[in-house]
Amino acid sequence: MQKTVCCKLSTSAEIEQLLEETSRSFADACNYILHAAIEAKTNNAIKLHQLCYSKIREKFNLSANLSIRALRRVAGNLTRLKKPRRRPREYKPRSIDYDARIFYYKEKEQSVSLRTKEKRIKVFLELGEYQKKLLTDQIPTAATVIKKSNHWYIHMVIEYKVPLTNGNQTMGIDLGIVNIAVASMGMKAEGKLRREYKDKQAAIKASLQSKGTHGAKRVLKRKSGKEKRRIRHENHVLSKRLAEEAKRHHCGLIRMEQLKDIRDKTKTWSKHWNRMVAGWSFYQLQQFITYKAAEAGIAIELVNPAYTSQTCHQCLQLGSREKERFKCLTCGEMDADINAAIVISKGGAVCKPARISSVS
Ligand SMILES: [Zn+2]
Repeated sequence: MQKTVCCKLSTSAEIEQLLEETSRSFADACNYILHAAIEAKTNNAIKLHQLCYSKIREKFNLSANLSIRALRRVAGNLTRLKKPRRRPREYKPRSIDYDARIFYYKEKEQSVSLRTKEKRIKVFLELGEYQKKLLTDQIPTAATVIKKSNHWYIHMVIEYKVPLTNGNQTMGIDLGIVNIAVASMGMKAEGKLRREYKDKQAAIKASLQSKGTHGAKRVLKRKSGKEKRRIRHENHVLSKRLAEEAKRHHCGLIRMEQLKDIRDKTKTWSKHWNRMVAGWSFYQLQQFITYKAAEAGIAIELVNPAYTSQTCHQCLQLGSREKERFKCLTCGEMDADINAAIVISKGGAVCKPARISSVS
């Protein structure tokens, strides 16, 4: 697993000046590469390297590795832009990227050695207990030095392995709209509030859209950002609760459905339901659960989603689902989502787990 540890640098006036100069040249180099990329209509890292490497080294007096970091940053940012033709923002002199070749963390001294334009410098870190613990016996693989409200910080990326728990139970989690998540042990996170919130937002959006003014468009954009952030936060909280539930029940494994079929599942649903599915962020929630599980040493398995909600968890025969109830002719009636979660915990209805995935 990867984690970023953020530490404050203990700087002198000289160090600040060196970092300042280096970050300015780094940003200038990034902007130079950006313009070259736009002109050549490419975001391919190798092409950009051929086009710019020797020029930025010469022009901005950056070391070989810092030049490569600048190239990688621009190529990475351009690739992540959703609309490739949209012009990305200019770079500001506020940060420098480092990789393991140009920065070292010395645990004994609690310092980092950083390459600047002029020379290599040693900077001490102001570490709290939490950071010291995270950095114990670690060799950070990458780092970014950042200036924030007149202080310099370093964000170091560490990789660490969490040993798998010895829990012998398996928890199945069914994701949905009526209930956002249901665990096979019985925990339910119901979706009523989120649905009501989304309905309300949709009504506001519709009225703003009909206005069509410039101001209305701006409000719309802000609202959609707010909705995304709210759901993201809910998903964070929920994934944490689910991981805790799994720990409490001594689970060593969490099973969920492979999500590519969520939209197939919802094909026959109403327009209203489809609007709910959009922006419900099933995938994000699954990612968060996977991450929280990995942190707790719990493995994740994704199972084939076919028939999970129509199969009886006791006799594994097909039954019928009516709204929130599941009926099996032999075994009787029960809560439909809990039944599905138990089927998922058993590896799905029709075949063995389709794919194994976990953050390691
Ligand atoms: Zn049955």
